[in-house]
Amino acid sequence: MKNLILIASLATAVASAASAVEVNSPGTNEARVMSQENFTGNAVAESMLPANEQNTHNTGIVTFPPGSRTAWHSHPRGQTLIVTSGTGWVQERDGERVEISAGDTVWCPPNVEHWHGATDTSLMQHIALTYFEGDTNVTWGDLVSDEEYAAPTTE
Ligand code: MN
Repeated sequence: MKNLILIASLATAVASAASAVEVNSPGTNEARVMSQENFTGNAVAESMLPANEQNTHNTGIVTFPPGSRTAWHSHPRGQTLIVTSGTGWVQERDGERVEISAGDTVWCPPNVEHWHGATDTSLMQHIALTYFEGDTNVTWGDLVSDEEYAAPTTE
């Protein structure tokens, strides 16, 4: 009996040290509709892999229906976006709205205010790697107004 308890506690210790390969499969984590305080439209996010002691960013996949977008926001340590489906827009404050589509990779530098989302006529889905500073990986601002959203695209 004592040996069984020892084996069980060793197994727990190995798992908590995050030294083993970890596989998270799609659908493992609950998908949730994002808050209307920070998103326009019904964007849906699903966690793919949380941050851990070795990995300083969380990884998630976000689906934006047409017209859906984030609010203005920034990331204290930046964010990588990998567009996996559809066509969308990304814009930084005082910058041009830029079209992004499946296969594109976007770097949002630390503390640069920006938004990202679908176009008005197409869905956009991206994987987001969002880096933490302490417990924070995003600072939210105002919603993107319809006028801001309708700004011309740079070709
Ligand atoms: Mn962002």
